[in-house]
Amino acid sequence: MSCKRLEGKVAIITGGARGIGKAISEKLSSEGASLVLVDVMLDVAEQTANEFKAKGINAFAVKADVSKMAEAEEAVKKAVEHFGKIDILVNNAGITRDTLLLRMTSEDWSKVLDINLTGAFNFVKASIRYLMKAGNGKIVNISSVVGRMGNVGQANYSASKAGMIGLTKSVAKEFASRNVACNAIAPGFIATEMTHNLSEAAMQAFLMVTPMKRPGTPEDVAKAVCFFCTSDSDYITGQVLNVDGGMLM
Ligand code: NAP
Repeated sequence: MSCKRLEGKVAIITGGARGIGKAISEKLSSEGASLVLVDVMLDVAEQTANEFKAKGINAFAVKADVSKMAEAEEAVKKAVEHFGKIDILVNNAGITRDTLLLRMTSEDWSKVLDINLTGAFNFVKASIRYLMKAGNGKIVNISSVVGRMGNVGQANYSASKAGMIGLTKSVAKEFASRNVACNAIAPGFIATEMTHNLSEAAMQAFLMVTPMKRPGTPEDVAKAVCFFCTSDSDYITGQVLNVDGGMLM
């Protein structure tokens, strides 16, 4: 008998085709989940889905710009048509447009808020009735430590990630009685394409304030996400778990 903890579950992962989202997809599938990979570029999502399928994993690629409600609704509809249900939603898609506030344009501000925060709202709203129907629905929002502590040059990003924490707690309260849990992960400095372009000085500055003295890996984040998706976390909702090597205590 299989003892995989997510056997028979269907998970939507936004931005699931690469970086942290891909590691989350890999981890959830290793526990038996079927995957719906959402990406703004269909070919990117399809390429990753094909990689997974070659390993015998049930994976389905869907195109959506998370910041558009109509595209979120369409993506969720296609996922349900394909797999028949949704048990897990991971709101992972996100971008940065870093610059000091005095140089930050309204466009820099809106773009980041639209994708990171409104994108999460759109997918929660589009999938919540299916998550309620699932019986033990799980939502995990990928926030950031900077949403809890702020950061120079990231007013837009920090605000979007702080907003995700407020969204997480409100959704947790509204849907706890409907058996849907909603938690957030706040990663610290994780080595991915998003952080790839940081200057050596910025990277050293992050490591200085990280007691574990190493960047996190996408797999470090994926393991924590998986905990919130399994029944191991059944009496936990509305929480924010830092995965940051001790950066914020
Ligand atoms: P990444 O490598 O840049 O991946 C982001 C993913 O989101 C990509 O697959 C991207 O798709 C997708 N995406 C971007 N805009 C989208 C849109 N409008 N609609 C749908 N998908 C969209 O970033 P990452 O480092 O893995 O970050 C993943 C999450 O972790 C983000 O929410 C980020 O804020 C958060 N986080 C990262 C760190 C870190 O240090 N890396 C720390 C804290 C939190 P395309 O490839 O098609 O652009």
